[in-house]
Amino acid sequence: MQVTRAAGTFLLAAILSGCGGEVGDDGGARAGADLLLINGRVYTFNWGDPAGDGTLVHDAPHGEHGWRPDGSAVAVRSGTIVFVGATRDAEEYRGAGTRVVDLAGATVIPGLVDSHTHVFGLGALLDQVDLVGIDTEEEAVARVAERAKSVPKGSWIVGRGWDEGAWANRYPDKVLLSEAVPDHPVFLASLHTFAGWANQMALDAAGITADTEAPAGGEIRLGADGEPNGLFLNRAVPLISDAVPSPPRETVARQVVAALGRMAQDGYVTVHEAGLDAREMDILEELEASDRLPVRVYAMLSLRDEDLMRQWIAKGPERDSDTMLVTRAVKAYYDGALGSRGARLLYDYADRPGQRGVSGDEYGFNEALTEQAMQKGFQVAIHAIGDAGNRESLDILERIFTRHPQTAMNRHRIEHAQVVHPDDIPRFGELGVIASMEPPHAMEDKAWAEDRLGPERILGAYAWRSLRAAGSPLTFNSDNPGSDHDIFYGLHSAITRQDKQHEPEGGWFAEQAVNIDEAIRAYTSWSAYAAFREDETGILAPGRWADITVIDIDPFVLAEQDPGAILDGRVLMTVVGGKVVYERQ
Ligand SMILES: [Zn+2]
Repeated sequence: MQVTRAAGTFLLAAILSGCGGEVGDDGGARAGADLLLINGRVYTFNWGDPAGDGTLVHDAPHGEHGWRPDGSAVAVRSGTIVFVGATRDAEEYRGAGTRVVDLAGATVIPGLVDSHTHVFGLGALLDQVDLVGIDTEEEAVARVAERAKSVPKGSWIVGRGWDEGAWANRYPDKVLLSEAVPDHPVFLASLHTFAGWANQMALDAAGITADTEAPAGGEIRLGADGEPNGLFLNRAVPLISDAVPSPPRETVARQVVAALGRMAQDGYVTVHEAGLDAREMDILEELEASDRLPVRVYAMLSLRDEDLMRQWIAKGPERDSDTMLVTRAVKAYYDGALGSRGARLLYDYADRPGQRGVSGDEYGFNEALTEQAMQKGFQVAIHAIGDAGNRESLDILERIFTRHPQTAMNRHRIEHAQVVHPDDIPRFGELGVIASMEPPHAMEDKAWAEDRLGPERILGAYAWRSLRAAGSPLTFNSDNPGSDHDIFYGLHSAITRQDKQHEPEGGWFAEQAVNIDEAIRAYTSWSAYAAFREDETGILAPGRWADITVIDIDPFVLAEQDPGAILDGRVLMTVVGGKVVYERQ
């Protein structure tokens, strides 16, 4: 369908138009843009927010024939958008030095923001030997041996993703792996991390011998010779995984640059990094100073790193900075996760009577430090999953607001807001607390979430619509690498409540879905609000930062005609502050 997918002419058009025209004497060069995008389907989002029930505002570009773009060209100069409108009106921005890109019908939206990421984790993962989807021990060993060629002898090689379920009747052991990779310690985690596989050098490095005892609930498999055979199960896995040393600083820096590059490639102009310790902050600061950050990073300091917190409380948040790295938020951790029954619930888990999860002090939450950070002007983002976790987090914020009213202005966030009691849903709006949520989580948790919660509490879970309807600001994100940050997956989850297999039919608690206007806003303008940047970015308009994402589908048209096809979208170009940081080849 021509109207919804730009053809492969994109790249060719970009190359052909790379050389600019003649410069006139009339100051054409002065007027020239650095970058001019033409013939696109531009959605500016320069119209009002939909109402809490999703009703579109009257000036939204939506009529009886559905959505239509409200522009076709964007001009950028010195990092800022200078024009948005029709291609025929954009000609005056074409100058000698202008790079003109004919988008050939591709869709242009404000630059995407992933407002809750763990790019250090993503970077580490990108560095590991990927064994997902591999069927045999021989294949896995071959892949590790290939990696070993480029890793200095003696350095660890870590891999992940071999399927302990599929391989349960033919677990691998150290023999082949030690033969093929004798000079590097190797640890290969299974897909769900319930099993680990190591070679002899790793066993030696970890000091695992026939005398090593497995902890309760774990097993160290033995070979015919009575020696550990390299396979660890369940709670014995940490015996070997803990022996993997944390990588040196240069390695971590390289990994995080690669992860941010991946985010750029996947259409993101900004990440909100959820919980940084001192070393990670230090690395980001160094990358920023040497101009190596490909996308913007909105840093949330980890409240668990008390020394780091005290330093930042002493100097205060970076309120007005427009550098690539901005630090004005703090990440606090209030309760555990729902899947492992650590999320704090008001009543027992439906599938585990007597258990209500952990929270607060027992989970390492430091209220006094949170309060100090808030007094100093930091935004606090509290991880809260269970209905008790959310209620208690709101209670804490409310108490601090009462003691120090100025702290209420700082757009505090609850990360995940996953299960919320009906009584607490309106409190988000009343307190001005942003619900920071992950559309993919609903799709990944739907297999067991109702088992944990039962038929009533599930109604307040992943309740995007209920929160919006009650006036809560919303921002969407992936929480990667735990979930896939693919924007098309995120948007599809948000508007259909269906997984990548288009299940279940009609959507899972589909009444909590949002519409496409809201879904994209939750990844753009509403994420800008969550970072105090709604005046600088979030929409496409003159004077805004030139943060732009170009994709090859029109998600507005597809949302109404064929929402499943949104999953097939691809990112074509990512522009950060006027700089093209990714372009599809
Ligand atoms: Zn997270």
